[in-house]
Amino acid sequence: MNHRVRSRSALLAGVLGSVLLAGIGGSALLGTLGGPDFDPTTADASNAVPALIGEANAFAIAAPDDAPAAVQTRAVTVERGDTLMKLLTRNDINRREAHAAISALTEVYDPRRMQIGQLFELSLKNGEKKEAAPSLVSLSFKADPARSIQVRFTDEGAYQAEVKEKALKRADGFGAGTIRTSLYEAAVEAGIPASVLHDMIRIFSFDVDFQRDIQTGDRFEVLYDEHATEEGTVVRVGEISYAAMTLSGKHLAYYQYTPKSGVTDYFNEKGQSVRKTLMRTPVNGARLSSGYGKRKHPILGYTKMHRGVDFAAPTGTPIMAAGDGVIDFIGRNGAYGKYIRIRHNSTYKTAYAHMSGYKRGLKRGDRVKQGETIGYIGTTGRSTGPHLHYEVHENGKQRNPMSVKLPAGEKLKGADMKRFAASLPALDQRIAVARGEGQFLAQD
Ligand SMILES: [Zn+2]
Repeated sequence: MNHRVRSRSALLAGVLGSVLLAGIGGSALLGTLGGPDFDPTTADASNAVPALIGEANAFAIAAPDDAPAAVQTRAVTVERGDTLMKLLTRNDINRREAHAAISALTEVYDPRRMQIGQLFELSLKNGEKKEAAPSLVSLSFKADPARSIQVRFTDEGAYQAEVKEKALKRADGFGAGTIRTSLYEAAVEAGIPASVLHDMIRIFSFDVDFQRDIQTGDRFEVLYDEHATEEGTVVRVGEISYAAMTLSGKHLAYYQYTPKSGVTDYFNEKGQSVRKTLMRTPVNGARLSSGYGKRKHPILGYTKMHRGVDFAAPTGTPIMAAGDGVIDFIGRNGAYGKYIRIRHNSTYKTAYAHMSGYKRGLKRGDRVKQGETIGYIGTTGRSTGPHLHYEVHENGKQRNPMSVKLPAGEKLKGADMKRFAASLPALDQRIAVARGEGQFLAQD
């Protein structure tokens, strides 16, 4: 399956930068929920590996000089600045063995995900001679609440990694809230995981200008997948099944559905895709620095009509095609500097100016998809600093990209619409249960 909305790309990091911090008259704390790449599966280091008994060296069993090799176990903790190599060599394991064990581990786990305080249990066999380095028999640790990993020296004479995974149960996660200061703060308060919030913002980004449209009293709710261990520890959160926002009294609700095309997307109850033909903001993480309309031109000094909107962002920030279309113009265009125009259909074109460069190889006549990078923010042409000047042309005339009524995207038809409609009652019931409505009790 191909999930458009869910992909955690760098793109998303940008969206959040601008969106989450744009509260109502205030900024939110982004740090507390983890960054955009926050991954709940790595967050757990505290209850890793059975018991840690005293100091690491307390495990060392002194072997008499002529005794047969004995196996000792050491519990060791990841310290600041540690790599797995450092940790192993600090425990007297020679680099060759350490390297072989790490190579085996890397096939199932990225050792860079180790966290300070994480525990590793090492089994070591004393060397044959008194001064010889002990050899590593096995190394085990808990990678996250659901997975433990063991790297073991096998009879075949090589290290091998084995992953033990607890069975996870899928359940519905749900969060709802009313916005008082910012969407971000309300979502944190409602216990919505950061990745779910990211996905929710992506779903609504076609309808909602998060920097302007969010008002005190606006509401939201979201139903998503949770994967938990038997003990009830949520290890992963998954896809959003349903998300709704009520903005200044206007209700928007979207349901997840995978049409025959195979591309999972979100649709309102009439089967209309959340996607619009054109995006209002074809760059992520940018700040709207100048709106559409009359303004005193920053370079020319006199009042002039500004027939586009400006988004300020650092040079090199990717610019996306606002919709599917064909490159109509690409090249230098006077005061516009490096410029691209895309023809979307017989009515709409979009234009992008002051770029620092174009996507490699892109040329006139090429087809582009919505969201595809076409070039990069710059300050070429008549421009005072790095920004994107973005225009929407309707029947050849520039219109305000922020307010022009945009044509709707895909609508489900035929068998797809039937299947989608048939899926809604069950989903509505899950939503009702999650809300605590009705007589159905949620399974634990
Ligand atoms: Zn402009």
